[in-house]
Amino acid sequence: MSRSEQLFSQAQQHIPGGVNSPVRAFKGVGGNPVFIQSANGSRITDADGKQYIDYVGSWGPMILGHNHSAIRNAVLKAVENGLSFGAPCETEVEMAALVSRLVPSMQQVRMVSSGTEATMSAIRLARGFTARDKIIKFEGCYHGHADCLLVNAGSGALTLGQPSSPGVPADFAKHTLTATFNDLASVEALFEQFPSDISSIIVEPVAGNMNCIPPNADFLSGLRELCDRFGALLIIDEVMTGFRVALGGAQAYYGVTPDLTCLGKVIGGGMPVGAFGGRADVMAHLAPLGPVYQAGTLSGNPIAMAAGIAALSELQKAGTYERLNEVAHTLAQGFQQAADDAGIALTTNQVGGMFGFFFTEETKVTNFTQSCACDQERFKRFFHLMLEEGIYLAPSAFEASFTSTAHSDSDIEITLAAAKRCFAKL
Ligand code: PMP
Repeated sequence: MSRSEQLFSQAQQHIPGGVNSPVRAFKGVGGNPVFIQSANGSRITDADGKQYIDYVGSWGPMILGHNHSAIRNAVLKAVENGLSFGAPCETEVEMAALVSRLVPSMQQVRMVSSGTEATMSAIRLARGFTARDKIIKFEGCYHGHADCLLVNAGSGALTLGQPSSPGVPADFAKHTLTATFNDLASVEALFEQFPSDISSIIVEPVAGNMNCIPPNADFLSGLRELCDRFGALLIIDEVMTGFRVALGGAQAYYGVTPDLTCLGKVIGGGMPVGAFGGRADVMAHLAPLGPVYQAGTLSGNPIAMAAGIAALSELQKAGTYERLNEVAHTLAQGFQQAADDAGIALTTNQVGGMFGFFFTEETKVTNFTQSCACDQERFKRFFHLMLEEGIYLAPSAFEASFTSTAHSDSDIEITLAAAKRCFAKL
């Protein structure tokens, strides 16, 4: 029995399913999860000493590679001054100013400790500001596990929300309307049905939770226009795309201005951090200025702020986004070529430092239904073959893969050579 297997068996005795977040359990691909012992640069090492080239990057935050010295040093320095104050500190101000400068639509910023908190709080604020209860989300988009966002209408774009987990009251879920990603007509129909009840649209600007699906050319600007027409707020959830597809996030990449933005992952440099922010007049409705309540004991934690500031400072260096894009582009192209050579039906999507591949005959995947129709069994086999080769991909066909500035040309070559062998075995 490997050390990972031993640890997983122990973990299952003490932790539900042996994991602290479900996708880690390898349910989507079968088999036992690999327990990670350490991580450095583009590599992670498991509890049995096997090394992998990592394209998960802790699900995004390791955009500069694991254990980056600038972040590690900033954390060590901050630790000397104490771990948490529960009172204002200078680094939170620096962090908020930095985020506002890099993402100008975030005129004011509130720090939280996870992406879930960011989206949950942004929705409450949008509801409080507009005095409307309903929200629109998109099928296949994930925004964390707050009740109102854990809703998936299934097939029909016009269906009222059905909870996607027991424990979410249907009375809550009914306020969540679900539309189809990349289908403006499905959104417009909801606004026409509920013209004065919809507080906001929340969207992943590049969907990363149904594999990787970019927006069609007019999709995000069309959402902006519909929100303006019907008096709703546009919330762009950049928990995955923020500081990843471009320094200013997907909103800079696609040139669309939201009312509110949610951030997470990347802005913590690996520490538990999230943030939401936007129009100053909307943010002024938050406590203690306004009546919409939102709080957090560890929000703006000094260690997390130090890590985040270091990460964002590094990301501003010349060439960062060119490199993230180049690595992802080369990998996506390389996967496509290797699959074509092996006669395996595959298509890829890529935006900046995120990419995805789909086992399908379709030439383009643009929504959740198409993503679901892909060959999941093939994905599972490919995932495990790559894992054996020492390539760690996301253990789910519904997650995007991430690149980092630490991925070298040699990492790419090794990955593509492995992919070639694995496609040939499928
Ligand atoms: N929004 C998006 C787009 C996400 O991808 C995620 C997590 N993958 C979240 C929100 C929730 O973030 P967290 O897991 O930090 O709560």
